[in-house]
Amino acid sequence: MPGAYDLVIIGGGPAGLTAGLYAARARLNVVMFDPTGGGGWLVKTTTIENYPGFPDGIQGPDLAELLIRHAVKFGLRIVEEPVTALLARHNPKRVVTPSGEHEARAVIISTGSRPMMLGVPGEQELQGRGVSYCATCDAALFEGQDVAVVGGGDAALDEGIEITRHARTVHVIHRRDTFRAERVLQESAFANKKMKFIFDTVVDSINGEKTVGSLSLRNVLTGDASELKVSGVFIFIGTRPNTDFVKDAVKVDERGYIVTNQFHETSVKGVWAAGDVQDKIYRQAITGAGQGAAAAILVEKYLHEHPSI
Ligand code: NDP
Repeated sequence: MPGAYDLVIIGGGPAGLTAGLYAARARLNVVMFDPTGGGGWLVKTTTIENYPGFPDGIQGPDLAELLIRHAVKFGLRIVEEPVTALLARHNPKRVVTPSGEHEARAVIISTGSRPMMLGVPGEQELQGRGVSYCATCDAALFEGQDVAVVGGGDAALDEGIEITRHARTVHVIHRRDTFRAERVLQESAFANKKMKFIFDTVVDSINGEKTVGSLSLRNVLTGDASELKVSGVFIFIGTRPNTDFVKDAVKVDERGYIVTNQFHETSVKGVWAAGDVQDKIYRQAITGAGQGAAAAILVEKYLHEHPSI
């Protein structure tokens, strides 16, 4: 049923859920649309060791559940629907979902980002048959087997370490000779006997009939080609923002990230953005949560100052 709200939050990762918590506690009439029910990428990650308050680490899905429970306890309503369009030119804004057009006095966009693809032959064809973008989802399928991880950032090493709990060997393939991942992760990865490192190398193709059987590799310095036999490949080469549905509604940059100012305001008054959908720098669960809180506080102030909207 279409509704009319003070605030519609689009997307339920740490940013959206924290915005929802603050808005609900401010007694705004707030709804969150998220087709998965909330949690975002937390649901697909493993141990999170850098979310303050959890000195022993916490599993991503467990943190997601706590954030959802916390926001819902104070009155956030979560509707499991995707938002297909945002009509933001006039007030109230209109948020389009399969159940209709919902009116919103204010909107927070917190739809996060999705994994980038390598774009090599075999990648699409073998998705779900050895090609994966999620260790939590698929690592257990490779018990005792040899797999590869592509990438050199936090995700590649963090998830690579997780995969060693199942796989016999994890070959990390990186296009340069140094990782950009944080030091602690690099130290853990280098100390892990199951991890092997292939530097200055790119994947030219992912090969296999029914499932992944090998990777064709190329050293970018020498041009030498080689084949690596693996039964799975996990790709962690960064993310793209989920902004296709709002590209015409608010300003996005050349990479698709929503452009915001220091107050998380978008190019359209009454529309804020928080978390990875507008953040190319920090991209942590905790910074997303902080940005969501900030946006919700400013939404409350804006609605209070503009009672007629
Ligand atoms: P990053 O953008 O940090 O790293 C992407 C990596 O993939 C880089 O090493 C990059 O190489 C490589 N890469 C990019 N494109 C290609 C390509 N076409 N072919 C081969 N390699 C490629 O992304 P992450 O997903 O690792 O991290 C995203 C954000 O999430 C970061 O802010 C990170 O801190 C955060 N994060 C934090 C975690 C934690 O704290 N434990 C865990 C996971 C993510 P190059 O280095 O040459 O550019």
